[in-house]
Amino acid sequence: MKHQNSFVHDTGSLSKLTIHQLADRYANGALTCDGLLHDLSAAIRSRDRDQRQIRAYINFDSIRPIRREVPKASKLWGIPIAVKDNLCVAGEETTCGSKILKGFISPYHATVVEKLLNAGAVIFGRTNQDEFAFGSSCETSCYGPTRNPRDPERVPGGSSGGSAACVADHTAIAALGSDTGGSIRQPASFCGVVGMKPTYGRVSRYGLIAFASSLDQIGPITKDVRDNALFLNVIAGHDPKDSTSADVPVPDYSDFLGRSIQGMRIGIAAPVQTPILENAVKVLKSLGAKVEALSLPHIAYAVSVYYIVAPAEASSNLARFDGVRFGFRDKSAPSLLEMYEHTRGQGFGAEAKRRIILGTYSLSSGYYDAYYLHAMKVRTKIKNDFDAAFKKVDAILSPTAPSPAFKLGEKAASPLEMYLSDIYTIPANLAGVPALSVPGGTDHSTGGKDLPLGLQFIGKPFDEGTLYQLAYAFEQATDYHKRLGNVC
Ligand code: GLN
Repeated sequence: MKHQNSFVHDTGSLSKLTIHQLADRYANGALTCDGLLHDLSAAIRSRDRDQRQIRAYINFDSIRPIRREVPKASKLWGIPIAVKDNLCVAGEETTCGSKILKGFISPYHATVVEKLLNAGAVIFGRTNQDEFAFGSSCETSCYGPTRNPRDPERVPGGSSGGSAACVADHTAIAALGSDTGGSIRQPASFCGVVGMKPTYGRVSRYGLIAFASSLDQIGPITKDVRDNALFLNVIAGHDPKDSTSADVPVPDYSDFLGRSIQGMRIGIAAPVQTPILENAVKVLKSLGAKVEALSLPHIAYAVSVYYIVAPAEASSNLARFDGVRFGFRDKSAPSLLEMYEHTRGQGFGAEAKRRIILGTYSLSSGYYDAYYLHAMKVRTKIKNDFDAAFKKVDAILSPTAPSPAFKLGEKAASPLEMYLSDIYTIPANLAGVPALSVPGGTDHSTGGKDLPLGLQFIGKPFDEGTLYQLAYAFEQATDYHKRLGNVC
């Protein structure tokens, strides 16, 4: 790589490199894995402990590298990857940012972790998140909030806020997140990095502590599109341990990078018009794409549907945390029933309790038909809207989020306002289709710093390759990833 020598002597600077830049250095013999880990640790210590207190990691004092002996030619050999706290790593405390899981040590690796280790990656650090991935700001974690490295007064987005923040802050090379209604893409947008929510079934969910099992997907958060494609290739694919993982061949996503987008058809769900979107349309047209308006009549109901379906599934998934088998238990309770009550009462935070109550309500007899069943019917209509749209276009373009990163505390008092920050990301989860957020520009409207804003490409099921093709063409034409300092 052209610029690589300028980083060698500056402590913490190797952490500024991308996966593909590091792979080049390993190939040249210019780098050792221990050297890189040492440098990354220095970067984490200096950034997490300084007065800005980004706190992307929940275990920054005690990160220990986990790796396997594999051939040096393996795809992610020597690449450190940070892992969201809802993914099981054997022998590590896995808490989902919740007090109720304090002390729970994973007995096994999630399949994505297995795949990363087999590809030579080094599991390096656990990242902060909203409790059980309930949230859009990373403020509901029992460890306290993570801050946005672009402006520490602001949230990094959520729920994978720690994963997006450490990648943007160069305290990680890349990170794993999970996305149920936007939790990879919205923080990627707020922090100015690249985040992919793959097709439902593309990546095994085995070892992901479930939030809403029909919506959850694991995906990569990276500094640029090339890294994202490399990373997804390693974690994608069928897994017999997850009955919802799909047995569909995984193409080489890197093959899609650099292909022309001449003649590709891109749909915009009018009436959304933002300067970022207008600019993106201009860029994509200049590269030969055809952009047309299309209608997705039922996505107006997506947030309402999501806040019935997701809490319903969450209330069922969280029933297993009762103080008996996992993590925290109130040992002073005088009876079994009181032990359940006290453990759950003390162990779950306010947002988790809200979701459990909402979900239990909409699943209870008498309300099931009115709420849950109704929501599932509308969900099918949303899926049908996407199926019809993809008969006409290759991908759909939208903003990732309705605003840039907001201030810490700004939406904490209003769950509804918080929920609305996922208005553009939720439809892809309900329909099960892939969606990718890339830096789309910056916003000055808040009067302060230039804040990044993401652009979202939504694709046909299992067509992540087309999203990488479009996003790479856009990235190369605009260079926002370089202007944001993601790639040097
Ligand atoms: N912000 C959404 C929620 O709170 C989505 C979270 C997620 O994708 N995990 O449910």
